[in-house]
Parts: sequence; structure tokens; C-alpha cells
Amino acid sequence: MTKIRTAAVIGSGVMGSGIAAHLANVGIPVLLLDMVPTQLQPQEEAAGLTLDHPKVRNRFALNAMDKLKKTNPAPLYSEAFAERITPGNLEDDLAKLGSVDWIIEVIVENLQAKQQLISRIETVWKKGTIVSSNTSGISINAMVQSASPEFKKHFLGTHFFNPPRYMKLLEVIPNEQTDPAIVAFMTDFCEKKLGKGVVQAKDTPNFIGNRIGTYGLLITLREMLASGYTVEEVDAVTGPAMGRPKSATFRTLDLVGLDTFVHVANNVFDLVIDPAEKEIFNTPAILKTMVEKGWIGEKQGQGFYKKV
Ligand code: NAD
Repeated sequence: MTKIRTAAVIGSGVMGSGIAAHLANVGIPVLLLDMVPTQLQPQEEAAGLTLDHPKVRNRFALNAMDKLKKTNPAPLYSEAFAERITPGNLEDDLAKLGSVDWIIEVIVENLQAKQQLISRIETVWKKGTIVSSNTSGISINAMVQSASPEFKKHFLGTHFFNPPRYMKLLEVIPNEQTDPAIVAFMTDFCEKKLGKGVVQAKDTPNFIGNRIGTYGLLITLREMLASGYTVEEVDAVTGPAMGRPKSATFRTLDLVGLDTFVHVANNVFDLVIDPAEKEIFNTPAILKTMVEKGWIGEKQGQGFYKKV
């Protein structure tokens, strides 16, 4: 019988860190892995650290842990949540993926990067372990096109929404070969253990939530700025006034990360044929410019809003 007692989250950014915290908070020990940095930061150099020091090799996951502890007030998480997360990196800890019950891929929204990672996971994968992707809308079938039939049976999309702690919705997306028993198990597990409201989606570009959500954000951004409204004016109307307690248009874009948002819009742009729909999902120039400048949102301290 399938059971999830332990998990690994790969990618410790906006979503990976939040998903790891949510799992830890419900009592599941989590391994939180990311890439190994290739360059020292000035403060690491000043502290006499070298690239092979664990504090450097685990930097991304360690930084994510620091942020989680600082940005989430204690009542959100049980006292012990942080102790259940073990930060690490993919190079040193790859083999550990062979001894967890659920592996969640939460890296950059790029098909090739995800395919490469999934091939690496498969080298240490233990039969029975469930592997899922938190992709916003890349094809689940394409991600495992080179995987073995047995691996495909255990692979699916589990799409959490941002922030994972608060957002109830979770899309479950099977690939053509996912074992129906695993889809049923994950639906039940995500509802009962993680407290989510699960909707099963098809493997269509951006699934359900982001096909609609991205469309709305792009239309609002283009039409309102073209009409001369300010970011604040648009947000004053599209936030709580429209029944979104936390996030209005531009605040949402900053929270998601503009770099990630552009990838997610491209998921549809690249795959739809209808020219009118293509035009809507074509990245607006303002977003391209902001990403080029590194103004990618809250995670960098500057997006449409600046963190002061
Ligand atoms: P992010 O940029 O905040 O974090 C990505 C993390 O993955 C970074 O820490 C990066 O170092 C790491 N990474 C990148 N390539 C890697 C690799 N090859 N191996 C290991 N680690 C790697 O991104 P995010 O917003 O957390 O998004 C992650 C995934 O979740 C994407 O697929 C995204 O579409 C999806 N998602 C994002 C949101 C959102 O609102 N941001 C919501 C739902 C789903």
C-alpha cells in the first residue's frame, strides 16, 4: 500500500520553500535540495569560505530556510516545522532521493531543465516512490517522454498555488500512463493530509488555473497601462474590492516572480495556434524589460513595487 512518510522537494525558490514548509508543518520530514552555486558571494569570501564548503554548497536551500523562518510569523507553522526540513543540494544528496516516498520537482519553468532533472531522479528512483512536478503548465507527458513505463506510472503533476500555505486549490495532472490508483491516492492525500481542494486537470497548456489566470493578468496589464492607469489604481480595484483578499494584479505578478510569469505565459504562446490567443499570451515589452533589468518581483526586492 502506498504511504507518504517522507518527501524531497527539489528547488528551494518561491514555491519549493513554501511547499517544503507546508509538508513539514503537517509532520512530514522533507529534504529540500537545490543547485550547487558556481561562484562565491562577497560575504562568503570575506568569511574565508570556499566553493566546497557545505554552507556554500547548500546556500540556496539554507537561504530559503532563513527566509521561511523570518517571513512567516510563528502561528503559521508549528514550532517543529523547521526542524523537519533538511537543506541540501542535488550533487551531494542525489542518492537520498532513493529513500523518500514522494519527490516533488519545483525548479525553473523550463521543459529541458525539468527533463534533465527527471532523468537524474530516475537513476536513483526506487520503485513505488511517487514523483510529481509543480509546473505551472508545461506538459506532464513531455516531461517523462524518455522515462521508463514503470516510472511514468508513478509520475504526475501536483500543482500548488502561491502561496502554498494559504491557497487551497491544487491541480492534479496525470500523464497518459499514470497509474489511476496513484492519482486516487494523491488526490486523497492532498485533500486529507495537506488540506487542499483538489481538481483533476488535463495535460493542456497551463492546465486550468493558469490558462485563465495568466490570460486575465495579461489582459489587465496591457489594457490598463495602455489606458494610462497607474499600478496602484489598478491594484486598488483588482484586489480585495474584487474578492481577492491578498493579491491584486501587480502584487500578484510580483509575488509570482516576473521571470516565472513570462515562462508561464510562454507555455501557452508556444502551443496555441489561434493568432488572437497567441497575441494575448505574447509577453508585453514592459515585462521583458523588467526581467532584463532583474526587477523580477518580491524575491529580488523589486518588481512593480519596491521592498523598502
Ligand atoms: P524560483 O525561481 O523562485 O525558484 C526556482 C529554484 O529552482 C531556484 O532556487 C533555483 O536555484 C532552482 N533551480 C533552477 N534550476 C535548477 C536545477 N536544474 N536543479 C536544481 N535546482 C534548480 O521559481 P518558483 O516560483 O519557485 O517556481 C518553481 C516552479 O513552480 C516552476 O515550475 C513554476 O512554474 C512553478 N510555480 C510557480 C508559482 C509562482 O507563483 N511562482 C506558482 C505555481 C507553480
